[in-house]
Amino acid sequence: MQDAAPLEAIAMDMQSSDYPLPKQFIGGEWRRGGDGHCGVVRNPATDETLAEVPRASRQDLDDALASSSSSFEIWRKTSAIERAAILRRAADLIRDRSAHLARLMTLEQGKTLAESTLEFSIVAETLDWNAAEALRANGRIIPARARGARQMVVMQPLGPVAAFTPWNFPGVLPARKIATALAAGCTVVIKPAEETPASTIGIAQALQDAGLPAGALNVVFGVPADVSSHLMRSDIIRKVHFTGSTGVGRHLAKLAAEGLKPCTLELGGHAPVLVFDDADLDTAVVTCVQGKTRNAGQVCTCPTRFIVQDGIYDAFVQRYGEALDRVIVGPGLDSASQMGALANHRRRDAVEAMVSDAIDQGGRLVAGGDRVGSRGTFWRPTLIAGVSHSAQAMNVEPFGPLALATRFSTIDDGLAEANRLSYGLAGYAFTRSAATAVTVADELQVGGVGINTFAVSQIEAPFGGVKDSGYGVEGGHEGIEAFMHPRYVHHVT
Ligand code: NAD
Repeated sequence: MQDAAPLEAIAMDMQSSDYPLPKQFIGGEWRRGGDGHCGVVRNPATDETLAEVPRASRQDLDDALASSSSSFEIWRKTSAIERAAILRRAADLIRDRSAHLARLMTLEQGKTLAESTLEFSIVAETLDWNAAEALRANGRIIPARARGARQMVVMQPLGPVAAFTPWNFPGVLPARKIATALAAGCTVVIKPAEETPASTIGIAQALQDAGLPAGALNVVFGVPADVSSHLMRSDIIRKVHFTGSTGVGRHLAKLAAEGLKPCTLELGGHAPVLVFDDADLDTAVVTCVQGKTRNAGQVCTCPTRFIVQDGIYDAFVQRYGEALDRVIVGPGLDSASQMGALANHRRRDAVEAMVSDAIDQGGRLVAGGDRVGSRGTFWRPTLIAGVSHSAQAMNVEPFGPLALATRFSTIDDGLAEANRLSYGLAGYAFTRSAATAVTVADELQVGGVGINTFAVSQIEAPFGGVKDSGYGVEGGHEGIEAFMHPRYVHHVT
């Protein structure tokens, strides 16, 4: 285990005078809002306060709703070619500004600058992909029952969308919802996470500068439960889109049901990784380190339960633990850091409690297991082997750099353990056998499967969970359909 540099020393460089004062974006104008502030943005690497976040007043929310409604009448009639051009221009602006935006993301979220830079390149890719999707939202002509008649399916935007996004990917997750909704011809009121406002503000600014009509996108902040219930109880909102925890997703699904609003929920996961005897051990270890430490493990598809076959178990656990111990943990702005701080104290404390519980219940600490430094929310990548099923971490999403190893003998045993939980977002296997890969891909009860890879969330493919991981998908050709209604038009002459 190496630390990038003395954290206290680096903290001096991380004072951010260029962190913007977060503002809401309502009806095409930036405003602080009418109800004081709802909390502060903190730099997770230093605990330094970066800014106060505005709290939307009832008037702010009503203004956002009204402007999303009036703007919908303009935006839905804007040609797909013009909508696509605005999205593409915004993508270019994001690329131009990515060095600055990535720095802000690292300051507010804690991930490494390399990860923030990559995230903004994916934000731009997401805007580009959806620009193309706007042009591909074709309807169809059905063979007519009667001569002279036309039976058509015409794709129509659903209307204003309420979107809620978390702090772990404060660029990509808002971008997916905003870009897809706008491509479909919907308008949006989004409440991003209050802990990471600057990333979403950067996306909104790029869209404004690209020529998005006023009111087509509104960004509000506040007390999450108050904002979501106010927006979702409004008749103006015709679609709800949420990424976050299963508990909050369940609550929002009930609110959506009361208003009969269609809802897409991308919720938590607890991804199993089956490592078979025939896996390429070198590749598996390197890939598992990257998968576990990416975004400090705060990823809904993060590999968590490493279910390892008997013949390779000892070698895998030893090599994986050694490799995790070599990961350089440090401030995201330090280019030597390979993993940044956890996003907040809540998360670090939760991981700490899960680690001590897993060890109390008989788990063997193989790597990590403690904090790094005295400031910020750094935690060493941790591997615990032989963890009991009763340990909290084996059942609740750790959402941090905590890996748990257990063994299995037969493929059926491995799959049973992989499918044990009610989560169903992603699942993985490392194997060189095509037959094993096919069985795993068929039998895992998840929304996305990675064989020898953890890359299961890419804009060109549908992404979403089953069971307690939610419903509906983002991305792929399926993504835009969540924002549209296939209207049937029967025209008899
Ligand atoms: P949380 O569930 O309270 O918050 C998650 C996000 O949902 C936050 O951005 C929050 O602002 C928002 N939120 C909370 N209540 C809301 C409401 N009533 N209406 C609208 N939005 C609301 O908790 P947290 O401490 O931030 O995270 C806890 C757990 O959530 C994590 O351990 C992880 O399991 C899960 N999580 C999942 C994802 C994901 O991408 N699936 C992202 C973040 C957190």
